[in-house]
Amino acid sequence: MSKSKDFLRTIVEEDLKSGKYKEVVTRFPPEPNGFPHIGHAKSICINFGIAKDYDGHCNLRMDDTNPTTEDTKYVEALKHAVEWLGFNWKDNVRFTSDYFPQIYNYAIELIKMGKAYVDSTNEEEMRSLRGTVTEPGRRSKYADRSVEENLDLFERMKKGEFKDGEHVLRAKIDMSAANMKMRDPLMYRIRHAHHYRAGDEWSVYPMYDFAHCLSDYIEGVSHSICTLEFENNRDVYNWVLDTLGLSLRPYQHEFARLGINYTVMSKRKLLELVNGGQVNGWDDPRMPTIAGYSRRGYTPESIRNFCDQIGIAKANSMVDVAQLEFCIRDDLNTKVPRVMCVLDPLKVTILNYEGTEELNASYYPEDVPKEGSRQIPFSKEIYIERDDFSENPPKGYFRLTPEQPVRLKHAYIITCKEIIKDSDGNIVEIKAEYSPDSKSGQDTSGIKVKSAIQWVDIKEARKVEVRVYDRLFKDEAPQGLEDVNPDSLHVIKNAFIEPAVITQKPDERFQFERQGYFYADPVDYTDVKPVFNKIVGLKDSYAKKKNTVEITPKPQAKKVQIDGEVVAMSDTEQTLFDKYTNELKLNSEVANTLARDEKLSSFYEESLATLNSPVNLANIVSNEVARELKEKQINELKFNARQIAALVKMIDDETISNKIAKQVFEEMVKSGEEPIKIVEAKGLIQISDPSKISPIIDEIIEKNPDNVTKFREGNTKLLGFFVGQVLKATGGKANPKVVNELLAQKLK
Ligand code: ATP
Ligand code: MG
Repeated sequence: MSKSKDFLRTIVEEDLKSGKYKEVVTRFPPEPNGFPHIGHAKSICINFGIAKDYDGHCNLRMDDTNPTTEDTKYVEALKHAVEWLGFNWKDNVRFTSDYFPQIYNYAIELIKMGKAYVDSTNEEEMRSLRGTVTEPGRRSKYADRSVEENLDLFERMKKGEFKDGEHVLRAKIDMSAANMKMRDPLMYRIRHAHHYRAGDEWSVYPMYDFAHCLSDYIEGVSHSICTLEFENNRDVYNWVLDTLGLSLRPYQHEFARLGINYTVMSKRKLLELVNGGQVNGWDDPRMPTIAGYSRRGYTPESIRNFCDQIGIAKANSMVDVAQLEFCIRDDLNTKVPRVMCVLDPLKVTILNYEGTEELNASYYPEDVPKEGSRQIPFSKEIYIERDDFSENPPKGYFRLTPEQPVRLKHAYIITCKEIIKDSDGNIVEIKAEYSPDSKSGQDTSGIKVKSAIQWVDIKEARKVEVRVYDRLFKDEAPQGLEDVNPDSLHVIKNAFIEPAVITQKPDERFQFERQGYFYADPVDYTDVKPVFNKIVGLKDSYAKKKNTVEITPKPQAKKVQIDGEVVAMSDTEQTLFDKYTNELKLNSEVANTLARDEKLSSFYEESLATLNSPVNLANIVSNEVARELKEKQINELKFNARQIAALVKMIDDETISNKIAKQVFEEMVKSGEEPIKIVEAKGLIQISDPSKISPIIDEIIEKNPDNVTKFREGNTKLLGFFVGQVLKATGGKANPKVVNELLAQKLK
């Protein structure tokens, strides 16, 4: 993983270099009063990530100084989240409550130094004495108490002789400090409450400002990394440690909190949703909790990549939720099998087909370096998606109509012969004919179709429940319950899936072709009642809707439908689109992206003038270049069309893989350097020589005897695992084709 150095890592490196610390020790210090959310994931990735990068360690510490809101179930959730994200804490989980005796002794020490006093002013008066930002505060009359009196009172506070709120212990710092936090901050308060760990032993509990720095010190933390809202607390942090004369002590550094649009990120507000029944618990797949993402089907890698991508900044900002969705899509794209599922079934009877057959189909598209296939049963009666048929299609509708044939994915081309309706005029069935010579992969029919749709065999398909989620909040900057989207969950009880999927275990992810990515719900899925959660769609459907609105008002706009959504096109765009799909053989989705965007199509045409590789060029331009051109003009790019052609040439020649090409592209974006130079400088040339790959494979086979046995016993899905290991071992440089061939030989 290429991680450019952020400001925190720069500080850590300097501190190691100067010898300030011998070892990096960080900590993740949540309060166990709720399930951790995606903001905590960022903090976890930073704290554990930095410790790992510099061979130090990171403690997991429950900051449990508030007895009334804490609970062991939250402790378990926090431990689980850290582990799920792939991190380990050193030794045992730490608890601030375990340090209560030590922290108490430090308080006594401060009292003895005349640096802390028991204040007995009531809350209201204390507030008024504190002053304002523009006015200095005044010290309470109790600040003059003698050391003896303070010691006596504090001990009796601890023993429980006073009522809640009767006294507090305060640090004696500076009532006129510009930083209001320094105006004699509270160190201890009285709380007659049962603590979930410490029991009833304590009647006083330390405040964050006092407990946190000392806990850090006790644990030997070097870098205490927290979010920006603690910036003003830093002065107190330093004051406590310095006044107590503690050397080799931690320092606090702040980074910006993560905020995501359409998301609330506060345990308190999330608890309201749970208690209010707007969601089904902390792990509801719509929740921005780590438990929620995990149940929905997000992978730990996708969350870690997201945290990496958004980086570490010193100023708060809002991240687009689409970026998180991009990360999960990007991760699953190369990992999960493709299968067919029909969510809203419409029966099709194929009049001229008799009998049954099994069609062999790969689980993965060609550009995914994984192998595996299944048999798909086919017979006379099938289901297709209801909106893949249109009786009166809008112009540009590419799927089945009374006049237009369509391909059934992995199977045959069918033509509509008759539409059957019920008494209300609703379509209940299509009678169709298939073309025997149009079988996928051996099509000699010469029939032209504009798209291929998913389907399932009625007899063999399994009924499944599919849960489709929309955003939990309808407002871009939601405040709380009042902004909840009432339609965020859509349960489809009667979806049908091809039978191969059901032989798999729960807890697995799939791409349902043309629909999105789905996850067998780890809690509710059973063999009898399979349940799938929609993780994310194939594309950012929100972004596309915005486009539609912008383009619609154009005069004489035609409409083209891409995977179910109607998108207006001008005449010029339509001409380009036709050329791209017919002459250049681009798929309709890529053609659509290019044709609809003038900057993209002109960039594409220019690169095409240098290199005749229409499909590969189109892929890079419609994905990678498109991302760059979203906010920039062509002349603002550091790279040009000729360089993109040079990059694609290397893919065509198998000098580099598609995956590496993306990495090279990222460099080109930054430096404008020639792709070949980047490839040479970074040693990214694809390894295709079997004699180089062979020993790596041998080693991996040796290290994974269990999986080899399982594979040989018939679990061929494990091939993907082995391919993945080899690619990982070579930093993605091994030629996937060669790897696949060699593995197939060696694993036999
Ligand atoms: P919440 O307001 O959601 O309850 P918090 O800040 O009280 O969160 P803690 O459990 O006290 O959460 O925090 C544990 C750690 O996680 C702290 O170091 C905190 O700075 C960090 N953290 C919490 N929220 C975010 C966020 N949105 N982005 C980055 N870090 C966060
Ligand atoms: Mg908090």
